[in-house]
Amino acid sequence: MRIIRTTQALRTWRRRHDPLRTSIGVVPTMGALHAGHRSLIKRARRTCQTVVVSIFVNPLQFGPTEDYRRYPRDLSQDLACCREENVDLVFIPKVDTLYPHDFQTTVAVKSLAQRWEGEYRPTHFQGVTTIVTKLLNLVRPAHAFFGQKDYQQFCVIRQLVKDLDLDTRITLCPTIRDADGFALSSRNHYVTPSQRQRALALYQALSAGKAAIAGGMRRADLVEQKMAKVLDARHGLAIDYLACCDARTLEPLARLRGTVVLLGAIRIGGIRFIDNLIVRIRR
Ligand code: AMP
Repeated sequence: MRIIRTTQALRTWRRRHDPLRTSIGVVPTMGALHAGHRSLIKRARRTCQTVVVSIFVNPLQFGPTEDYRRYPRDLSQDLACCREENVDLVFIPKVDTLYPHDFQTTVAVKSLAQRWEGEYRPTHFQGVTTIVTKLLNLVRPAHAFFGQKDYQQFCVIRQLVKDLDLDTRITLCPTIRDADGFALSSRNHYVTPSQRQRALALYQALSAGKAAIAGGMRRADLVEQKMAKVLDARHGLAIDYLACCDARTLEPLARLRGTVVLLGAIRIGGIRFIDNLIVRIRR
């Protein structure tokens, strides 16, 4: 497994890869790798001949009051994980490698990135789309893999790739959960058992929404009420949003039809949790 730390070395490596002979897949991560990341890497391994994983805690996607400094970092364990998954190349840049002192360009998607998470984290997606653009330009992969866990992020990146004519196919991979349904996340490292117990209500609320739709409920306001009721029963938990949206545009729906995504975000003791479920309505 090759480890590369500079953009120059990455470009040199890339130039040696003939796109007619080998397809490259990239899995962008912020490290502290868990089974969710592994599933993306495994998917890349199945699809592509060459698998690149990037590990970079991207300061640009953290707000000024967010957890950039305390975000979990464990490089030796991450490298062991990548070796186990037969990754070909790990890109581990330093902050000033990707953002030198004179860095001044950002890439921003408009309305899709401004709603839901964008309302609570106004600079977040701009940080994500800037780093993803840089990575896709450096690696020029045929495929890039993202988790449904961050569904809005996937939608924003899909829009970015389309709008800027980037020559990479974006693949959505399912959310990996613990046995009780709690979505895996690197941030779970600093969630206490009691916070985790309360946060599990988010998945339960989304599941209640999904079950209501399966039972024939088609009014979004009623489904949202059902979901909110599950969360309201828990103490010390604040709801940022709970919504039934069109899975492509992320616009809130009044009447449910087609492919719907149930999006939710809550806060417990200063930690935010997001989750979502996709529901396909046949008629
Ligand atoms: P992160 O390191 O949190 O930036 O995540 C890197 C990639 O892993 C993103 O595409 C995430 O959506 C994906 N990811 C994070 N958690 C999970 C999970 N539990 N299941 C599937 N993918 C995930």
